[in-house]
Amino acid sequence: MSARVRFAPSPTGALHVGNARTALFNWLFARKEQGTFVLRIEDSDTLRSDQASVDAIVNSLEWLGLNWDEGFLRPDPQMLGPYRQSERLEYYRELGQQLLASGRAYLCYENDAELEASREAWIKDSKKTRHPQRDLTAQERARFEAEGRKPSVRFATDDLHGEVVYDDLVRGVVSVDMEEIRDFNLIKSDGMPMYNFAAVADDHAMQISHVLRGEDGISNTPRQLLIYKALGWEAPRFGHVSFILGPDGQKLSKRHGGSSVEDLKRQGYLPEAVVNYLGLLGLGGHGEGEEIFSADDLVRMFSSSNLIKRSAIFDYGKLNFLNAHYLRALSPERLRALVIPFLEKAGVTWPSVEWLDAALDLFKGNAVTLNDFSGYFEAAFRSSAVACAEAVEKARGIAETAAALGALLEALRADFPADAAACQVLLKSVQAKSGVKGKSFFMPVRLALMDSEHGPELNRLLPLIGADRSVMRLEIFLKALA
Ligand code: GLU
Repeated sequence: MSARVRFAPSPTGALHVGNARTALFNWLFARKEQGTFVLRIEDSDTLRSDQASVDAIVNSLEWLGLNWDEGFLRPDPQMLGPYRQSERLEYYRELGQQLLASGRAYLCYENDAELEASREAWIKDSKKTRHPQRDLTAQERARFEAEGRKPSVRFATDDLHGEVVYDDLVRGVVSVDMEEIRDFNLIKSDGMPMYNFAAVADDHAMQISHVLRGEDGISNTPRQLLIYKALGWEAPRFGHVSFILGPDGQKLSKRHGGSSVEDLKRQGYLPEAVVNYLGLLGLGGHGEGEEIFSADDLVRMFSSSNLIKRSAIFDYGKLNFLNAHYLRALSPERLRALVIPFLEKAGVTWPSVEWLDAALDLFKGNAVTLNDFSGYFEAAFRSSAVACAEAVEKARGIAETAAALGALLEALRADFPADAAACQVLLKSVQAKSGVKGKSFFMPVRLALMDSEHGPELNRLLPLIGADRSVMRLEIFLKALA
């Protein structure tokens, strides 16, 4: 049977970058093995799950291009779904009955506070004990029912000893002493399944062959293996991918500048850069210094034995480098389509599509994210007759500023260049005439026209700014200098 893997997010917020990487690895696994990538929504925690999170996760997966073959929002010809846990309660209930009938599970009438108290007692107790409610008589049960108590279904472990052993796809052989595993809930008293139970039930029903998930799953896996065994099912292979940490070694969070795929999208990163970066963050097996990988490259490189065991540190610098790379490679049409929402949000307008394409092509050499363009537009094309005080201050520090700007202003008034070639000729002749050359010429000009001493080619920038605005900018800058 070909590999069947799944991504099973809990819709309790946006798609965290770490979870996105887990999704990516499952997607790569499926593509590499020509298997099936399934999306399942684990919304059995009704208090924390919501539809907005489902939508956000789906949007983020689609944005990243991690298309799933089967599952939520896909047709279900094999009838392995539904792929949303809140729609599968009857199935969990039946499985719970099966485990009750076999004696591996028991009905427990303890309320939350009582359960918590007995849990605490177990933790302190070094020996496993049989829970009294495993042996309730029919009368005792009837009494609890008459009190209006609703039972939970609990998995009994008091008579399970020895080790649970499995061969982790990433970490190798893991063994856990069963003395550490105490009774646990399968179905809560309100009828909702616990994660461990629902995940096992669904992975089995959906014929999942490999479970590749975050390292926070490690503590669940032994319990899940016990459930498989109790139901007489073969367990899938498990693999646990390490966390992504911020530069301070803490789990990546908002504090580090953004932690969700949505954050990265909003900050102007491209999906191909994010996919490349997340792949790079956890996948070994490539040469030192090799960094640019398309999704297809990652598929070729992927092997669960190439997954890196240690935690990865999220580095915005590397992501920026990759993003700038992919930004330069975009077609003019795609660049325009991607940047326009950022420009509109910033209130930037443009005279024509041709002009916009020329400006985007010019600025893309300096931009790191899609968000950078609006700043360049505001600096270069603003119409307000105010010079940037900071730029003026910097220009004051350059001895040749007034001579350079004065000469340029005069030349532009006389004959404004229509294109980059004409502008190049004009800039050369102004430098020759004024005797101010190179950096001492270009830096003040850039400060006057772009508020910054660095920036794109002036040959191309000036015709885009246009005659009136260029002249106005130089005039007000010179005035501010005086
Ligand atoms: N719903 C779980 C989570 O989001 C999935 C864990 C698993 O993949 O089994 O953490």
